[in-house]
Amino acid sequence: MRESFLRAIVYTAPGELRLLDVEEPSPTDNEAVIDVKAVGICGSELEGFASRSPFRQPPLIMGHEFAGVDRDTGRRVLINPVVACKECDLCLRGQANICRSRTIVGIQRPGGFAERVSVPGSTLYEMPDGMSYVQAALVEPLANAVHAHRLAQSYDALPQRVGIIGAGTLGLLTALVAQASGDPEVTITDRLDARLETAREAGVHTAAKELSGEFDVIFDAVGTAETRADSVGLLRPGGTSVWIGLHGPEAGFDGQALIRHEKRVLATFCYHDQDYKRAIEFARRLDTPWVETCPLEEGVDAFLGLLEAPSASVKTMLVP
Ligand SMILES: [Zn+2]
Ligand SMILES: [Zn+2]
Repeated sequence: MRESFLRAIVYTAPGELRLLDVEEPSPTDNEAVIDVKAVGICGSELEGFASRSPFRQPPLIMGHEFAGVDRDTGRRVLINPVVACKECDLCLRGQANICRSRTIVGIQRPGGFAERVSVPGSTLYEMPDGMSYVQAALVEPLANAVHAHRLAQSYDALPQRVGIIGAGTLGLLTALVAQASGDPEVTITDRLDARLETAREAGVHTAAKELSGEFDVIFDAVGTAETRADSVGLLRPGGTSVWIGLHGPEAGFDGQALIRHEKRVLATFCYHDQDYKRAIEFARRLDTPWVETCPLEEGVDAFLGLLEAPSASVKTMLVP
């Protein structure tokens, strides 16, 4: 028999996050109830909470980077949180990541900051043997990195000098994906020394306070006017900037210089199925000493703590 309540971290009102007992999910026929085993706290959740962004409406259980056990089948599963309609023009073009009526688990419906959550069966992927739940919960951010890198490659198949601005989870994973894809010179930057150290320990070729020189491709994993301007300004003529970071709305770069040097800016959002599948393969080989885990019960403090001081551990995961 199922308990009637479960523990969850609920975004209850703007600026307010609480650990509560909430009702058990009641799944429809097409849904599965997942016992969450690890769930990442995403930078977009921290930003959204801090800026009171309308993109996430309280009351909401956040959490879109998670893995767990399917209650009915006992299978260990990963969740691809992007739920596409599969019918609109963009889905039919193979761009389900920007489906016109997409919903995302943990944003438009309850997510993984809970002991259990009900998700559409179509979001489930089986976890390979030997994969840890921490690795599994990294597949979602990793899929973003795989997609961003694949987009850049479609314009520049063999970039020599790759710059990455921001050594948080997405920046670090993008650097590792670039290196695994054979990009010979990868430089990552961050304002925080601790994150640069983490990037070095994770094996990134070069970690520095800022980019210097010229780059073929620059990924901006921060998303301020300043980082976007740098991501374009430091490109070689004909180079490619890829925007992943969602910090703020401003672009802040010189449009005329963009034209005169025929540079390009690509925006990237989420991932396609093929990226997600590649991310699963990549994640099983990923060492994760830079992931910190914390019990769900302490998740509110962990979340609010990350808002005050970003952690050197790069990624914090809650373990229900
Ligand atoms: Zn995320
Ligand atoms: Zn669609």
